[in-house]
Order: sequence, then C-alpha cells, then structure tokens
Amino acid sequence: MNFDSTDTGNSRPDEQTNAINPDAISTHGTTRAAAGSPLHPTDDGNVAAGTAMSATTLPDFPEPSWSTAKQSTYDSCPRQYHFQYYESWQGWHRGSRENNPESRMAYFWSKRRTIATWTGRNIHNAIALCLHGEPQQQVLEHTLRSLQAEWNGSQLRGKVFRKYGAGAVPPKGTLLMEHTEMSLPDEALAEGSARVTECITAFASLGIESQFRQARISGDRYHFVEPPDGIFEPRMVEFAVPGREEPLKVWAMLDCACEVECNRCVVYDWKTGREPSDREESHLTDQLLVHAHYVLGPEGIGSRSADVEIEALEVYLPSCVFYGGPITSGALEDARERISRKAADMLALHNRIREQGERACEPKPAQQACGNCSFRSMCDFAWISEV
Ligand code: SF4
Repeated sequence: MNFDSTDTGNSRPDEQTNAINPDAISTHGTTRAAAGSPLHPTDDGNVAAGTAMSATTLPDFPEPSWSTAKQSTYDSCPRQYHFQYYESWQGWHRGSRENNPESRMAYFWSKRRTIATWTGRNIHNAIALCLHGEPQQQVLEHTLRSLQAEWNGSQLRGKVFRKYGAGAVPPKGTLLMEHTEMSLPDEALAEGSARVTECITAFASLGIESQFRQARISGDRYHFVEPPDGIFEPRMVEFAVPGREEPLKVWAMLDCACEVECNRCVVYDWKTGREPSDREESHLTDQLLVHAHYVLGPEGIGSRSADVEIEALEVYLPSCVFYGGPITSGALEDARERISRKAADMLALHNRIREQGERACEPKPAQQACGNCSFRSMCDFAWISEV
C-alpha cells in the first residue's frame, strides 16, 4: 500500500450522492459494473474502473432503484431528490456544459461534500484500510496528511470557483461545499482532523479488527469489508415490487461484515455523526436490514449456509455506542415487505418524473433541509430567512 499523501479528491462517495463520477470515466476511460448488473447511478456516486464499459453505454434516463439514502433525500425534499438523482444525470459529459447546462450544474453540485461528510468518508476509508491489514498508526498518519492536502486543494479550487464560476474548476480534486462560499481558516480542518483521530482511535479500541483478522485467516469464515480506495463496487439485493414484473434493485452498501463464529455473522455500519436521540438502541434501521439481506444472500454467506445467526450494528464513533442487534427471520421478512412498498412508491414517482420532469417533485423548503442542500444556489424555492 502506498501511503503517499495525494489530493485525489476522489474517495468512495457518501450516502448523499448518486451520480457517476466523471473522474473515473475520464481518467480510466472505462467503467465497471458487477457481473450481470448494468451500470447505472448509484447511491455512492462513483464507478470502478475495470472491465471495458464505455460511459456512452449509460442509459439516457436513470434506472429505477431504491436505497435508504434515496428515500431519505426524497423525504427531506422531493425537489432535492430530483436534482440529485435525475437532473444531474448525464451532467458529467463534457458537452453538457453547452447542451444541458442545468444538468451540468446539478451534476457539479451533486458532487460537493460538506466538511462533515468529507471527514466521515475519510474515516470510512481509514477503517477499511485498517481492516485490510494496514497498521493503524500509519493509516492515521496517512489520512491526516491526505486531509491536509485535499483541504489545501479545496481552498484553491474554492477561490477559482468564487472568482470565475463552476466552469473554471478542474473536474478532478476536492472542492468542499463550504469553500464554494468562502475561504476558511485551518481551525476548521483541525476540527475535522481531531474527529478523524478520535474515531480511528475509538475503532482500534473495539477489537473488531482482530475479530475480522481471525475470520480472514480462518480461511473459511465469511468476511467482507468495503474497498479502501474509494472505488465503487455495486452491491445490491433484488426485491419483488408490486406492479412490476422484474425485481427492483435495492442498494446495499455495507461497510463491513464478519463471521465471528461458525454461522454467526455480525454486520457493522460505521457512523461518524451524532448518536440518534429519537430511537431505541435496539432499533434496526432499514439500512441495517438491507445489509443483512445482502449478507444472507447469494453474494454473501448465504451461498454457503442457510442457517446463519445474524446481528447488525451501527457503531457510533468516537463514543463506541452500538445501535441495532440480532435479526430474526420475521424482522427480515417485515423489512422486505416494507421496503417493497416504499420501492413501489418510488417506482411510481420514477414514472411520473419521466413524464413530467421536475414538476413531479414538489419543493419542500425548510430551514434545515435547505441549509444542508447542495442545490440551494440553483433552486428557486430555497428557504430564505425572513429576518
Ligand atoms: S434548496 Fe430547499 S427547496 Fe430547494 S431543493 Fe434544496 S431542500 Fe428543496
């Protein structure tokens, strides 16, 4: 593993984005989809390089799919959902600047991260590196150097953006949302770096790394960890949806899963934000349940054994608080039914968007939603303080 600090600005996309990464396309010229799964926009906004598939093979209109990230964006504001998953589609093409500037701008904004989500993504990458066997101290040092380099690059790109506009910003490299508005003192980076250090240190204290290593060296126990290099690999399950012949794709972008004992598997989902105050610690989110479906499916441990005990946990770092717990077959079936119903609604919306465009997605301006929305500068309905 090369630990040189670089400013690639290209890490695995977070849960907020859903567009193809043009950097992956323009750099590698090819993209990769999982065997048998056509390439399409993802909840993770990146595309792996690999088997030859030209970017031009992408469909003109996004394929329907469901994920907790999509659902939560829609619930927050349907117009934001439209910007994120539809308006930005095809905006990565060079020609879109002239031919479809709205799409180009939506794509540009769909790629912007806030300091918080950028830091969170780097923590995920660092944990993945640790689980892939890299020494924790080196991973931490590498991550902090990388943060500094990306931060410097983002400050510079922010200046270019503020002076000349989005068209002058090179497509590669990090440009944080905050830097599109102003130059920031390095204290803001120091806070992010402190959070990275706290989270990695907390992660190291949990013993999950050694649990994972045991599964890895056992040779026959299931273990999975997301790629550490930011390259997107599609992972999904397929659910039957009312009113549709073929099943619908449901994205399952799990962070880590590990068979801790023979036929007992734990799914982990790293969380770097605040712990939730509105649910019980034993509550199983749809996201955890989708991950469990994936792990128990043919691409996971299910290919080997049908009799597996599974537990799914959100791990809140740096406080090391766990949410979630054991999953019963009843909970899995309930989740499948619940998600299928939500996905059917999403599919109906998809068809309305095809006919009506953005009019199918009413804006829902609210102080918090608009404050966190990447598209506020191009939205006529953005919440404006009356004070
Ligand atoms: S700025 Fe507000 S109203 Fe407009 S898309 Fe974003 S969240 Fe919705």
